[in-house]
Amino acid sequence: MTKKQFQAESKRLLEMMINSIYTHREIFLRELISNASDAIDKMYYKTLTDDALTFHKEDYYIKITPDPAARTLTISDTGIGMTAEELENNLGVIAKSGSLAFKKENEAQEGHNIIGQFGVGFYAAFMVADEVTVITRALGSDQAYKWHSEGAEGYTIEPADKETVGTDIILKIKENTEDDQYDEYLETYRLRAIVKKYSDFIRYPIKMDITSS
Ligand code: ADP
Ligand code: MG
Repeated sequence: MTKKQFQAESKRLLEMMINSIYTHREIFLRELISNASDAIDKMYYKTLTDDALTFHKEDYYIKITPDPAARTLTISDTGIGMTAEELENNLGVIAKSGSLAFKKENEAQEGHNIIGQFGVGFYAAFMVADEVTVITRALGSDQAYKWHSEGAEGYTIEPADKETVGTDIILKIKENTEDDQYDEYLETYRLRAIVKKYSDFIRYPIKMDITSS
């Protein structure tokens, strides 16, 4: 399996996220939930135009699963998923919508002001995670794929197993340092508060199991 390089611009944004001294790192969750919601929207629109498909409301949701022991936070959705090609095109290059605004503003401002204002998208995950794994299966495909990256060095894509259509984003949450606390992103209570603050308007259920943390 060969490691691929991020596009130069993506790499710059990624490095900014990784080294972010931003105090509102918590917005990573807003970005991932927004992507999950978009993916379910796409599924919904597909069912409107394809008679073979029906949208059963109860089948569509976003799930947040912290695992403090493994130091992982998983954001799952039952949305449309991505093919291998889409993984490559969507996650290997800079986000389209968020980044346009980002690039313009970046010339005038310091990074940490911009992040809160605009959607910075998927790469926001690297503000809190040192490893990101995406396991996804696209609608109409039997094969799932796994995208993995440990940051600016690049990413890999390989076939994977996934029973159902949709996407799991698995964040390996950074270790606490003297200056930076990340443990909070593994705490149910804290995660709930972040969801409430930024994602209250999301139209699909956001589920979280009760855990001991
Ligand atoms: P934006 O949402 O502004 O397009 P992002 O960086 O947030 O930019 O995401 C990049 C792209 O990756 C999305 O446009 C979408 O195509 C794809 N993507 C990200 N997360 C998911 C997901 N959970 N399910 C399906 N596709 C996704
Ligand atoms: Mg997005």
